[in-house]
Amino acid sequence: MNAKNKIAVVTGGSRGLGRNMAIALAKKGIDVVLTYNTNKEAADAVAAEIRALGQKAAAFQLDTSNSGSFDEFAPQLTDYLKAETGSPNIDFLINNAGTALYAPAVDTTEKQLDDIVNIHYKGVFFLTQKLLPFMNDGGGIINISSGLARITFPGSSVYGSIKAAVEVLTRYLAQELGPRKIRVNVVAPGAIETDFGGGRTRDNKEINARIAGITALGRVGLPDDIGGVVAFLCTEDARWINGQRIEVSGGQAL
Ligand code: NDP
Repeated sequence: MNAKNKIAVVTGGSRGLGRNMAIALAKKGIDVVLTYNTNKEAADAVAAEIRALGQKAAAFQLDTSNSGSFDEFAPQLTDYLKAETGSPNIDFLINNAGTALYAPAVDTTEKQLDDIVNIHYKGVFFLTQKLLPFMNDGGGIINISSGLARITFPGSSVYGSIKAAVEVLTRYLAQELGPRKIRVNVVAPGAIETDFGGGRTRDNKEINARIAGITALGRVGLPDDIGGVVAFLCTEDARWINGQRIEVSGGQAL
């Protein structure tokens, strides 16, 4: 790694939005460490694509719903960075990894709720806490929320409200990390065509049309609509954006 390059960690970078973010960051001249849960091959392919763009990249396995594993992950990451750059530090953390839950509140089980809390809140909180000692002052954190923290959609009470919790957490972190000049923001995508939730936004024609119908720009989002926004937030041009929620949805349910 070029010691002068900034370094971003993107969780869930093997597919979908995380993959798009990782590549968009590389296009801005940022080196990337991405994580995956099960899809090593896909993650390695993203890393190879980034290297072909001229940036450094590596992929590590990390289950972000298991905060107990972070003690193992942190030294793996920092040992790699020390070997590559001479420093264990990163500049940006993108908390993106996540899974869907569609269940009416009356039917939601404790296990379903725990799974969502673990991946979308507890994992975000403790991974951030674990990596903060290795984040350069002046760096940034971007948490990925959802349009569903603002608007309601039947079946998304747990998912939407836990994403809302991450949005509040973001403002607290921005406040507490201000003295280190670390900016903390939320990107909240609208519905995007990825594998998320079994790919239903992409593959279910009726759902796709319904979402397009309530979106000012008249279509559902694509991964390419999101990655560049995250990458922009990791540039000097975004230096005064802090503690903000940026919805990227083409104007969904305005
Ligand atoms: P995808 O299902 O396309 O990709 C999910 C990514 O997260 C994969 O890289 C996957 O890794 C990783 N992942 C899944 N479970 C875990 C886990 N337990 N630990 C670590 N990594 C995990 O989803 P999207 O890209 O669409 O979603 C990314 C983020 O965007 C999520 O936080 C989601 O809530 C949010 N979002 C998505 C929207 C959408 O409509 N798509 C809308 C608004 C927000 P692997 O490949 O190894 O399984």
